[in-house]
Amino acid sequence: MTHLPDRSETTGRCFGYGGLGPRDDDARRWVRDAIALLNRDAHRSADTHLIRLSLPALAGLEIYLKDESTHPTGSLKHRLARSLILYGLCNGHIGPRTTLVEASSGSTAVSEAYFARQLGLDFVAVMPRSTSASKIEAVARYGGRSHLVEHPAQVYDAARQIAAETGGYYLDQFTYAERATDWRSNNNIAESIYSQMAQEPYPVPCWIVMSAGTGGTSATLGRLIRYQGHDTRLCVVDPENSVFYDNYLSDDCALTGEHGSAIEGIGRPRVEPSFLPCVIDHMLKVPDAASVGAMMALSDHLFRRVGASTGTNFYGLCWIAAQMQARGETGAIVSVICDDGNRYGTSYYDAGWLADRGIAPEPYRDQIARFLDSGVWQPLG
Ligand SMILES: *Cc1c(COP(=O)(O)O)cnc(C)c1O
Repeated sequence: MTHLPDRSETTGRCFGYGGLGPRDDDARRWVRDAIALLNRDAHRSADTHLIRLSLPALAGLEIYLKDESTHPTGSLKHRLARSLILYGLCNGHIGPRTTLVEASSGSTAVSEAYFARQLGLDFVAVMPRSTSASKIEAVARYGGRSHLVEHPAQVYDAARQIAAETGGYYLDQFTYAERATDWRSNNNIAESIYSQMAQEPYPVPCWIVMSAGTGGTSATLGRLIRYQGHDTRLCVVDPENSVFYDNYLSDDCALTGEHGSAIEGIGRPRVEPSFLPCVIDHMLKVPDAASVGAMMALSDHLFRRVGASTGTNFYGLCWIAAQMQARGETGAIVSVICDDGNRYGTSYYDAGWLADRGIAPEPYRDQIARFLDSGVWQPLG
């Protein structure tokens, strides 16, 4: 006899409409209104900017950053939170009294708390204790409850357990990010980038550079590149204390890491189901000091603060730009501003915090600043 997987394992509990009668109608109406509410939020939102950097020293290269920090909840996770909740509603897992539960390093929890409040649903965020205070505060401000765990690898079991205890629904971004996002269209981040590039000198970028937390954004980018038949290559940049890079090289899905990533939002201690290595053309691994150094250099260049994962992206982008330059190639490179740096005033922008963790970004900051100013890539030790 064939073994069929237990459906509740993979899809969660069912929220039924309650059979025939008036209760059924009430619940059905609630779900319809909930979906309309999410669609209204999307309809009120403008698309995010695609910023073109002005870098005269990099002749023949055009550099763009998709600015996801301007969503109402401050990060690219605004798109994901909307998609994950729609996915739960349309799959019949979320009803008018469902407690929403999520495992997060912070940004997703903030965005989901925002939507949960609008829908009148209870929300519990399971996050590592190291999460930025400003994100924990934001969850509270939206009426959500934070459950903090010591180790980042504990978030999954804790979230599943809280969902079971409350009869709630575990949104599970690390599993569902890749499939909850409409990767073919619906103004996802990839489609938006290509349509905003349409009138540029090189409308099809040579490279798109992104980091991975759930892996959902790189999955959407890589799939759309194939679906639309572009020559773009996708580079994913991984920080220290993440297993994605090793999984990419080895195909080993059982890899685990002992420490959590120091770069909030990216780098994971296990190979997340939403991370799809087969759509990635190249991966880079960069030191945390390089992420923070590039974050500082880019913030100086833009006259505004960006987050550390944006620094990871930007370090990878500059490395690729230097390679292209050395080979005499021309073209466009696109990456992402994932969130705003003002969330990290007491961490990545605090010299004492960095020193306590042994993160010395200055050499990398100088390396990137020099590259932007003069086009010279000075290799470091
Ligand atoms: C989630 C996140 C990322 C990575 O995006 P994924 O689509 O989850 O891979 C990068 N930076 C920040 C700040 C994030 O919150």
